[in-house]
Amino acid sequence: MPLRSVGPTAQAFSKKLSSMANACGPIFFVAWVVIQWIGVAQWSVAAAPNIIVLLTDDMGYNDLSCQGSPDIVTPNIDSLAIRGVRCTDAYVSSCMCSPSRAGLLTGRSQSRFGHEINWEGAAKPDQGLPVEEKTIADWLKTAGYRTGIVGKWHLGESAQFHPNKRGFDEFFGFLGGGHRYFCDLYKDPKTVPKVAEYDTLLEENGTSIETSGYLTTVLAQQSVKFIQKNKDNPFFLYVAFNAPHAPVQSTSGHAKLYPNIKDPQRQGYAGMMAAIDDGIGLILKQLQRDGLDDNTLIFFLSDNGGPLERNGSLNTPLDGEKGGMLEGGIRVPFLVRWPAQLPAGKVYSRPVSSLDICATALELAGVPAPTQRPLDGVNLIPYLRGELESDPHEILYWRMEARKIWAVRKGDWKLGRQPPWPDKHVGSYKPRLVHLAEDIAEANDLVEVEKDKAAELQRAYDEWNKTLPAPLW
Ligand code: CA
Repeated sequence: MPLRSVGPTAQAFSKKLSSMANACGPIFFVAWVVIQWIGVAQWSVAAAPNIIVLLTDDMGYNDLSCQGSPDIVTPNIDSLAIRGVRCTDAYVSSCMCSPSRAGLLTGRSQSRFGHEINWEGAAKPDQGLPVEEKTIADWLKTAGYRTGIVGKWHLGESAQFHPNKRGFDEFFGFLGGGHRYFCDLYKDPKTVPKVAEYDTLLEENGTSIETSGYLTTVLAQQSVKFIQKNKDNPFFLYVAFNAPHAPVQSTSGHAKLYPNIKDPQRQGYAGMMAAIDDGIGLILKQLQRDGLDDNTLIFFLSDNGGPLERNGSLNTPLDGEKGGMLEGGIRVPFLVRWPAQLPAGKVYSRPVSSLDICATALELAGVPAPTQRPLDGVNLIPYLRGELESDPHEILYWRMEARKIWAVRKGDWKLGRQPPWPDKHVGSYKPRLVHLAEDIAEANDLVEVEKDKAAELQRAYDEWNKTLPAPLW
């Protein structure tokens, strides 16, 4: 099946139109135009893939069996890699939840619009994804997609930031940055410790709802319902699991799958991963049942690296963790499956970004690339198919001004400023240069050995940094 190609089709249609106008009488001509228009419209809708983004929260780089996990088994998530492409050098645009989601959903580095760090606790009324920014859901709606989000929002809690105002036809989940996992517990006023935003009722399109059961499973079941409801039209579904973010709360059934893990936190974390894997299994089965398996494009990734001690995650062989610019903070598992168009079982090792998801989706849906607020991503499909052999990005950038940390990656070189966190030493700490293909753990600083390369990357960062506004909060 060919990739959808709006431009050439429109040109061919227009050419045929003028020759028919000359050859036919007016009535036959009008009838022919109507029949052709219906045909083109149906073909366009049928060819555009459904798009699903499966996002986990604070998952470690090494916590899937297809990534080499020593103790966690994830057969359903692995099946995305077996039937699709696994990207080894994939990045999110931030090392932290809310800004990473701002980048993912807009397809633009969140530093371009000041959404650079989480807010403390619940969002203040003016804190949220700036309303001038369009989301992937906004854009896909213009192409006739039905759009849904299930799970964690974390892009503002005031009315103007609500998902239903940001392109999503349907929202089921919670607005804050995290949540308890047992629905019966967060309804209980005696539950301690109390974290206000983690204990809210879930909501559906602005209305609080009573739910029961284990949150990860509830979110997966709701995703299945969305697919069932929208199986006859193109859809975009964003499944934002809050697992395996802390608090580490697993069902006993899932934790019991790992009797050999003796550390209770790691065992609970593994149980949370098992629930995510089961949930993704439910979603994949529904796509099969509805005959949507072949022409649904699925992305799977985490919003940032694992925070290690806070949830028991593992980022090996990467150094660093959530909240920092070492690879363990920003490099994530990234799987892309689209049986109709992508090879199966391929491993792709050039740098790609979560910012590419929006650009890919828009191009496949025939949405023209935005010009006023240009995207920072590229359409990944030709790269993953092997049609383009260059790197998708000449250079990738990160900045978190509040912590005075930043990084750039160009080819296999990375220059970054990341003082040992939380020890800031912000005034004196020098950027380090590493060669990631030879030193994935970023152990050897080559600034003094490769002075020209370090200077080149420093200049690139300085130029980019000059174009950015101050952070909004
Ligand atoms: Ca996160």
